[in-house]
Amino acid sequence: MKKQYDVIIAGAGVAGLYAALNLPGSLRVLMVCKRELTLSNSALAQGGVAAVVDTTHDNYKLHIADTLIAGGYKNNLAALEVLVKEGPGDVLHLLSLGVDFDEDSSGNIQMTLEGGHSRRRILHHKDNTGWEIVNKLIERVKALPNVDIHENAQLCSLQKAADGFWGFLFEKGEMAPVFAPYVILATGGIGRVYQYTTNSAIATGDGITFASDMGARIKNLSLVQFHPTVFATAPGGERFLISEAVRGEGAVLLNCDGERFMHRYDEREELAPRDVVSGAIMQEARRTGSDKFYLNISFKDTDYLKNRFPNIYARCLQEGVDITRDKIPIFPCQHYLMGGIDVDLHSKTTIDGLYACGECSHTGVHGLNRLASNSLLEALVFSRRAAADIARQAKPGYQPMSEPSPIRTEGIPIPSGLRTEIRDIMQSCHFVVPNPAAAREGLGRVERIRGMLSSGSFAVTPEYVEVKSLATVASIILREASGQEENRS
Ligand SMILES: Cc1cc2nc3c(=O)[nH]c(=O)nc-3n(C[C@H](O)[C@H](O)[C@H](O)COP(=O)(O)OP(=O)(O)OC[C@H]3O[C@@H](n4cnc5c(N)ncnc54)[C@H](O)[C@@H]3O)c2cc1C
Repeated sequence: MKKQYDVIIAGAGVAGLYAALNLPGSLRVLMVCKRELTLSNSALAQGGVAAVVDTTHDNYKLHIADTLIAGGYKNNLAALEVLVKEGPGDVLHLLSLGVDFDEDSSGNIQMTLEGGHSRRRILHHKDNTGWEIVNKLIERVKALPNVDIHENAQLCSLQKAADGFWGFLFEKGEMAPVFAPYVILATGGIGRVYQYTTNSAIATGDGITFASDMGARIKNLSLVQFHPTVFATAPGGERFLISEAVRGEGAVLLNCDGERFMHRYDEREELAPRDVVSGAIMQEARRTGSDKFYLNISFKDTDYLKNRFPNIYARCLQEGVDITRDKIPIFPCQHYLMGGIDVDLHSKTTIDGLYACGECSHTGVHGLNRLASNSLLEALVFSRRAAADIARQAKPGYQPMSEPSPIRTEGIPIPSGLRTEIRDIMQSCHFVVPNPAAAREGLGRVERIRGMLSSGSFAVTPEYVEVKSLATVASIILREASGQEENRS
């Protein structure tokens, strides 16, 4: 059965949820997410959201300057000004929606410091800010009568028609077409294209692939951020983030000999931006011939640590590390994507009616490297802007004139092992330190996989869509990284 809406939102992270909240109640909205509502990168965010809320000790110029320094001055200044100046309004809106940011004993919002920030401007909820925000937004969106929320519903195809978009949704074992004149892609990042990532299982780059297949401009996809302090689990184990806020609260980095080493690479030491710290770890690994690194915060008060970082404390304990006594084994890991579907200041892509926001989009605010805690802010500001732009144009209740083209639901299943192969290629060809020769070598291999998947013999299933997305984003990244693509600015 075909269904029709005024707006389809693909994704229920902070970007998708906040877009839904900001669309007018007169529009029929479908919000889909491919797993449960709380499985997203947003729900994993630990450190917090950066915003100039305390105007006595902070100002817009400083936040902009910090973001420019982290981004190597390659940021889109117009987008950055929008982010920094409008962001505090959205963060205060979250407060009014019931988000419980930590307060000090006098009842003032507590701000923490993170790498690259010159002021304490990170609002947080202990060390699980994303979980708190996502759950409060879900409550609000569920109460909206105009929004149909479908969890475990994967968008498997998106087609541009003359009057809008046809999507194919896989839900409860069936594939069904769905129409809307406007689509907001809020499908998140691409972390699962790497063997080691902090990202949730949904981060397979589906939205970027749909947009790219429809001919939308994709930009700076090779600008991948590697977080320096990710718990170094045994091979094959899921890695998890040790938030930047731990360094913000004084933790030090140690090499295999138990020595601090950051002073050799940057005067900001542990509080240098992520790319600098990750790069320093790779150089120090070469110097010492060891990939054993540690983060130490055990010298702080035990009760303070348990209260300030309850999740990190509990998660490390599961791995046998007590952060109040032990050094935490860490190593860099894929964490964030600066590039994505290129959008303007209203989150419009280069295709009419198609919007993108959050981690799948490229607004240009981050430049070469994202400043910590600016991405939740970006997801809020630019999803609201997408909703506002759609609200200005949409005619509620539009009936489609077009028909969807059928998609291939019959065919052979894809061979096993492709995900692992793509992840191995990315891990060895585009990790922390750019290496155009390795990228060229890896490109040939992922293009062969992508070519095979596009050959037309495979059934379009959720598994096929994810693996094809991984192959697509891997090949765009490696094409850029090897200098064969014009999309990099
Ligand atoms: C461990 C971790 C910690 C972080 N900490 C911070 C922090 O402290 N501060 C900060 O600012 N940023 C942080 N980030 C980054 C930030 O969380 C993300 O960039 C941001 O939340 C992305 O939000 P999003 O809405 O764009 O995507 P996500 O929150 O990832 O949501 C994507 C949604 O898209 C859906 N989806 C994907 N593909 C499909 C499909 N084909 N069909 C249907 N649905 C689909 C998913 O199901 C999901 O609902 C962190 C990230 C990680 C991984």
